[in-house]
Amino acid sequence: MLKIDNLRAGYGGTDVLHGISLDVPQGRVVSLIGSNGAGKTTTMRAISGMVKPRAGSVRLNGVDVAGLDAYRVARLGLAHSPEGRRVFPTLTVADNLLLGAFPRLTGSRPRGDVQGDLARAMELFPRLMERRLQLAGTLSGGEQQMLAMARAVMLDPDVVLLDEPSMGLAPVLVDEVFRIIRRLRERGTTMLLVEQFAAAALEVSDYAYVLENGRIAVHGPAEQLKHDPAVRAAYLGGV
Ligand code: ATP
Repeated sequence: MLKIDNLRAGYGGTDVLHGISLDVPQGRVVSLIGSNGAGKTTTMRAISGMVKPRAGSVRLNGVDVAGLDAYRVARLGLAHSPEGRRVFPTLTVADNLLLGAFPRLTGSRPRGDVQGDLARAMELFPRLMERRLQLAGTLSGGEQQMLAMARAVMLDPDVVLLDEPSMGLAPVLVDEVFRIIRRLRERGTTMLLVEQFAAAALEVSDYAYVLENGRIAVHGPAEQLKHDPAVRAAYLGGV
């Protein structure tokens, strides 16, 4: 589904990713774990076209999308829910969600049932349902984060990239984010997940990669990494 091979990327004169390879098979949840500055967000951006890769390939359903503009990658079926709260503040919650479906209306993929997907997104994110006519800019930070996640789902994508969906959220909302990730997984959504809560991320993942200084240091089934002493010591609080 998503296959990355020897991906290199950076900013200005600095290389951040030094040739990383990873696979996100259909219907699987794969986590990318690493300390601050390891290059997790840069990996997500290089996949979705927000940063131009310097080398390597990013295959989405067999098509190399490396170097394509982000809107083209979205049209080909990849949704990126970026770090931070990127919503359209002067539009309502419902209109933000409908905009998430916009690439479906302009791409070559089947447009599907946008209204049905809107209803399903509302059901998955009850907080958004209650606030569907509220302007997105007046939502709490946590609610805006959920809206960004729900908007990615509205693309009806083949693959969703979720970058730190729980960042800055109160514990009750963190639990809700992981509940939603589990629901999406049950629906068969293919996801690449970056999460500060590595232990919780491994719980909802099938497979994981550990990124250190722009290189994949370790990878394996999530169940196996949970018990790996080095991974536990470095990323799971050593417990
Ligand atoms: P965190 O967990 O702290 O979000 P990360 O693993 O997601 O970290 P990145 O955000 O990918 O790491 O950053 C990797 C490196 O790239 C860091 O050294 C960072 O300072 C640098 N970097 C990130 N964005 C930019 C940018 N727009 N311009 C220049 N350097 C950047």
